[in-house]
Amino acid sequence: MRLLIMGPPGAGKGTQAVALAERVCGPHISTGDIFRHNIRRRTELGALAEKFIAAGEYVPDAVTDAMVRDRLAEPDAASAFVLDGYPRTAQQVATLDDLLDARGAFVDGVIELVVPDEQLVARIRRRSADGGRLDDTEEVVRHRLAVYSAQTAPLLRAYGERGLLYRLDGTGDLEAVRQRINFALGV
Ligand code: AMP
Repeated sequence: MRLLIMGPPGAGKGTQAVALAERVCGPHISTGDIFRHNIRRRTELGALAEKFIAAGEYVPDAVTDAMVRDRLAEPDAASAFVLDGYPRTAQQVATLDDLLDARGAFVDGVIELVVPDEQLVARIRRRSADGGRLDDTEEVVRHRLAVYSAQTAPLLRAYGERGLLYRLDGTGDLEAVRQRINFALGV
């Protein structure tokens, strides 16, 4: 199965995507994780992405699309994957469609995790106390939420029109959310 997991920052996409990837026997591909890995390793891609991420802005599509194209070409992603944090713009949706189309493949399902804004901010506040991501400050988080609403939330409608969208409650404990996802997808 080729799945996308979408939702605002702090919705719990990463944790759920890891479990779901195991379930569908494919890699968990998080564009945010790949960027952070590159920032830590001080690669050229990391240097390019860092200023956008620190400001809570999206990394330009050309950069993100090229990175995802390379990652999806790896053999482990041939028949199943869970994409976490991609696509986030209309351009990225079109790129993903083209990439899959070229292989005669398509997205099997899109999970949207729905969590109220105030809970998102509270969750991220806890996450930043634990680990500290450079984009988890309150001000940047609020900006990331606004960018999500403006650029990414509207994309869900298109997936809904294709009959691919599972809009699920992302509140409650991890296990409850995991069960909702598995039940919706029948996995
Ligand atoms: P995430 O870990 O998914 O919350 O991503 C962290 C940050 O990485 C985002 O706030 C963006 O700055 C950047 N990023 C991750 N995925 C994308 C994407 N698909 N398009 C553009 N920027 C992205």
